[in-house]
Amino acid sequence: MTKPVILCVDDEKLVLTALKSQLLHHFGHSHRVELAQSAEEALELLDELAAEPCEVPLIITDYVMPGMYGDELLVRVQTKSPQTLSVMVTGQATADAVGEAVNRAGLFRYIAKPWQENDLRLTVSTALDSYQQARLIQRRDQQRQALATIIALALEPDSLEQQLTKALTTLLALPDLAGARAAIYLPDSDGTQLLRQVQAGAEARFPLHRAPLSAAGCEQDPCCFALSYQGQAIGLLELQQPGFSPCQWELQELLTACADSLAGIIQLKQYHQALERQNRELEQTVQRRTQALQEALEQQARLNDILLEANQKLDFYASKDDLTALHNRRFFMQLARSELERARRYHHPTTFMMLDLDFFKEINDEFGHMAGDHVLQQVARILESESREPDILGRLGGEEFAILSPESTLEQATQMAERICERIRQTTLEFDGHEIRLTVSIGISEVQADEETIDAAMSRADQALYRSKGTGRNQVTITA
Ligand code: GH3
Ligand code: MG
Ligand code: MG
Repeated sequence: MTKPVILCVDDEKLVLTALKSQLLHHFGHSHRVELAQSAEEALELLDELAAEPCEVPLIITDYVMPGMYGDELLVRVQTKSPQTLSVMVTGQATADAVGEAVNRAGLFRYIAKPWQENDLRLTVSTALDSYQQARLIQRRDQQRQALATIIALALEPDSLEQQLTKALTTLLALPDLAGARAAIYLPDSDGTQLLRQVQAGAEARFPLHRAPLSAAGCEQDPCCFALSYQGQAIGLLELQQPGFSPCQWELQELLTACADSLAGIIQLKQYHQALERQNRELEQTVQRRTQALQEALEQQARLNDILLEANQKLDFYASKDDLTALHNRRFFMQLARSELERARRYHHPTTFMMLDLDFFKEINDEFGHMAGDHVLQQVARILESESREPDILGRLGGEEFAILSPESTLEQATQMAERICERIRQTTLEFDGHEIRLTVSIGISEVQADEETIDAAMSRADQALYRSKGTGRNQVTITA
């Protein structure tokens, strides 16, 4: 970097020479002194210095000059180089002119001609200090802003790669890091070597030729900054800049703070990624469980259907006689009891009929048990076809049947019994090439209004049946 310049402007050459010699004497070790004999020349010189680039902390100007006065020059200088401080050295300026220069151009000091060297030295020294302070504050402000921008990146929805690249770009935009190149190294997947890198900055003039393998290396290298989280290095920030000096302590401080922020960004991203992974896994688990539950519920529903069907079958078999599909004795008695209650409530006549096949044993003996079964089934069908809808039919056991007829008088029941008797007598059943004929004996009773159970009516019908058997079978006997 070239030395900063103190620019002196005066139309008198002698004044310029004196100024230069005194300034170089006191400030020559740290500053250059440039001279201009007119305001116009000074403005041109300023442009040239800006292009170098070269700082101009101070301009010392005369007031009365041909072409442009000192106060006007300072107004222009302030536009071109706002940070440059100004001192006016003149014997002719009025208080108004000085006031104008202070107000419009921020004049730093006014020195009367002829000046005392000591006065000049003190004034310039104060101005240069003030300039340094202002520059320092400005630099610190820029650095603070850059750091704030980098910290704010943690909240951006970008990928880690994008976040880190933006951070480096922000860092390298600082005037203090002009022309620098920077890279961030991250551990590879097994975490042992620092290989993945993100980089930004000036072209290949300063190639990032190496991938540091350990964070410990940083302590020896002023261009390397460890990205540490809770005492553990999780990456590296490397900076390359021509003339980068580790003595710039505030820059070192900034880069260390920046490295800490980058470590935070990386950690936060990894935390987010882990969280997203866990969420995905959780969602999959929930999905799997929901599906399993759904399947279990469907299976349960299927089982319920099967169970329902089985129960219905069970009910059916529990109430039916296997062979004839008429009600079995237990269920017939149950139905008869509830029917009897109803009949008593409404005072309906009800009859009870007992039927027993005649000499059935002989059919078994002659044609076999299977033939007997066949006969029992066919008789059941005849009973069904000869009875009415509300009649309750049952096989009480063996070749013995019963019919409870609600709303049926003894007379009506007798007619039905006669029909059944006749029908069976007339029927020839065929089984296995045999022709089987048979008859039936029937006993009928009427349920009395005061009877609470079926038992008495059943017993009377049984006695009537016994009489049918006893008096020649193949007939109907009625009892009141
Ligand atoms: P009766 O005219 O006096 O009633 O004479 P019966 O031969 O009909 O009466 P008995 O009580 O002597 O014989 C009934 C027979 O019915 C005896 C038994 O083996 C037979 N039997 C009982 N249940 C069944 C059955 O489910 N199937 C067959 N094939 N025979 C049966
Ligand atoms: Mg019999
Ligand atoms: Mg019998």
